[in-house]
Amino acid sequence: MRSIYNLLSSAVIAPLMFSACIGTTPQKSNDPSDLKTSPDAAENFSYCTIGDCTIINSALLRTNLQIPITVHHACKLPNQYAMTFDDAPSDNLPNILAILKAKQVKATIFVIGKKLSTPEKRALIKSAFQQGHQISNHSFTHPYLTQLSAADVKKEAIQTRDAILDIVGKDERALNGAHYLRPPYGLINDQVEQTLIAAGFETLRWNADRADWSLSEKDRDVVIARVKQQLDLIKASAGKSINPSMLDLNHDYSEVTTLALPTMIEMIKEKGYKFVTLRECLEAKS
Ligand SMILES: [Zn+2]
Repeated sequence: MRSIYNLLSSAVIAPLMFSACIGTTPQKSNDPSDLKTSPDAAENFSYCTIGDCTIINSALLRTNLQIPITVHHACKLPNQYAMTFDDAPSDNLPNILAILKAKQVKATIFVIGKKLSTPEKRALIKSAFQQGHQISNHSFTHPYLTQLSAADVKKEAIQTRDAILDIVGKDERALNGAHYLRPPYGLINDQVEQTLIAAGFETLRWNADRADWSLSEKDRDVVIARVKQQLDLIKASAGKSINPSMLDLNHDYSEVTTLALPTMIEMIKEKGYKFVTLRECLEAKS
């Protein structure tokens, strides 16, 4: 049995008191209505975090972590790789954007609303949007949304959406990007999910996390090994009906991710993946 700590989120381990364990065998939800609500709930996908990989599905995450099954973890099409960067904008974002531009990769940038208060940071996000990246919502103050009232959850989401739209405009692409919200630390429950859906938001977590926040710039090879580990797991699972798409989690401030990024991108391309924005990942028609 592997600890639930390893499977939840990189940056939130200590404050949590989960005691359940998840086995390696995917299970179906205990609540049949969950599966009715989402036909994808029992679809298996690879799930790697902190160097620990397993095959899992949304119904199992629901059963063990109370994560609503409507929260996205993977893309719609098998060859899609959605690269995402949380906690933006940091001073390191220009370095990330330069690599993405050189490699012709479109990504999704999740911003923390309160960080958009200076002209420099606002200009950075505008530049990212103009490069074709998707700008999405990572709350206003990066709190544990599960510890807030419904009114405060809604406020966190709307303040950030409005801050994004104030910078990038309100065209359809901007509006779409700002309505996707990744809860800080991946922490979400039914009340938070229902509040966000009612307010017009759509939520996601990830299925590929190298825990870059916990690594130093000397750990470039660790990051690359963790990417390879997941690609190998997917390859080894071929024919076992898993969704092989990847929706990753990086941090825009991470020096080690910046150092590993060119090699990561080449490895992922060599496996036949197409880099997509979150919108393409979640709205693709099969
Ligand atoms: Zn975050």
